[in-house]
Amino acid sequence: MASDDYHKILLDESEIPTQWYNIVPDLPVPPPPALHPGTHEPAGPDDFAPLFPMELIMQEVSQERFIDIPGEVLDVLKLWRPSPLFRARRLEKMLDTPAKIFYKYEGVSPAGSHKPNTSVPQAYYNAKAGVKKLTTETGAGQWGSALAFACAQFGIECEVWQVAASYRQKPYRKTMMEVWGATVHPSPSDVTDFGRSLLAQDADHPGSLGIAISEAVGEAAPHDDVRYALGSVLNHVLMHQTIIGEEALLQLAKVGETPDVLVGCTGGGSNFGGLAFPFMREKMAGKMDPIIRCVEPMACPTLTKGEYRYDFGDTAGMTPLMKMHTLGHSFVPEPIHAGGLRYHGMAPLVSHIYEQGMVEAISIGQNECFAGALQFARAEGIVPAPEPTHAIAAAVREAMACKESGEEKVILTALCGHGHLDLASYEQYLSGAMVDVDLSEDAITEAMAGVPVIA
Ligand SMILES: *Cc1c(COP(=O)(O)O)cnc(C)c1O
Repeated sequence: MASDDYHKILLDESEIPTQWYNIVPDLPVPPPPALHPGTHEPAGPDDFAPLFPMELIMQEVSQERFIDIPGEVLDVLKLWRPSPLFRARRLEKMLDTPAKIFYKYEGVSPAGSHKPNTSVPQAYYNAKAGVKKLTTETGAGQWGSALAFACAQFGIECEVWQVAASYRQKPYRKTMMEVWGATVHPSPSDVTDFGRSLLAQDADHPGSLGIAISEAVGEAAPHDDVRYALGSVLNHVLMHQTIIGEEALLQLAKVGETPDVLVGCTGGGSNFGGLAFPFMREKMAGKMDPIIRCVEPMACPTLTKGEYRYDFGDTAGMTPLMKMHTLGHSFVPEPIHAGGLRYHGMAPLVSHIYEQGMVEAISIGQNECFAGALQFARAEGIVPAPEPTHAIAAAVREAMACKESGEEKVILTALCGHGHLDLASYEQYLSGAMVDVDLSEDAITEAMAGVPVIA
């Protein structure tokens, strides 16, 4: 691409990456293993077998650098991939910055976010293993709709527990899941023992991702033909998302750019890892040297205020123990708008590379995020989902610093979803009613008290 006045950089369908990138074998220090919840010994493939099909378990523990994407999966991904990489020229102009801002747009998928990049392969491997139904949790509804879509593609059932606060705030996400054929329960629900025990304490319980995971796992584990799917956090999920970063590398190369700063929002770490890991590979190989930064909400500051410890992935304590940054598995975050970022833990891989000093992390309050989102929408047109408003606010901060210093930095981020079903949050921001929640140390101390002590 020779011309210098491009607005978006597109790849041909034939240029779609055909392999996922597994960062694990490239890391200078290997990440700590998951532990069995009962024995606290390293968890083996069999410990995951009640939840996931063997091909996904083997990906979870793989030491291969690259794994082929099956043709049947690529055929579905090609419904919207390769996704566009935009140069945010109008935002640059509005901010009057010398920085170059690029964003990889994942809102072009059927569900409107990056989540189908992993729901499609997960549904595929489950269907191939003879699984009849997948269960899952969803916060904002993005993951539930992504899995409902993918299950419809491969002819299997889908049952979703949606965090009650989101279920009430966002009825259209539920309808979307039902359009694709899924069954949806608010969580805590009256269809599981754990859900009923929580409803007995509080009939209006707002729910949390950790609780919804417990309900979905509890339904999958006892049945041979039912398995569970997780939309973030796990190694194989982050690996499926690397198709984002691999495409972005090709797209930036077409216009002769390399990033100086890469920022991404982190809930469980999957869109961030998906964008960042291929760039980290290039950085480790000495081919570029971007600063890489995670951005999380002030109301759920897992990396910046959580502890790096072994903790459960769910509230009831049924999953294997993972070493990660955590606010405690019983932590119930305030119902901030970015439902997808309300998780007590962080991907073990993202936590590990953060501990290793390979990435930075900051937290931003939601008012600054929505202020950035409004600038973005007015300049670029796209209304962002509440989660990537964190990435946008961080990109705006960086661009304004460039305006101060006169530096022409190349900033790369992921706009990992659109906000068409999140307009209630925008309405609240526009009416001036949005409040920033700064988490108290006491709330963290209280939740951390329940985290198991591992020798
Ligand atoms: C789920 C979701 C997130 C948070 O999950 P990550 O694993 O951190 O990417 C962020 N943005 C959107 C649009 C989501 O749907």
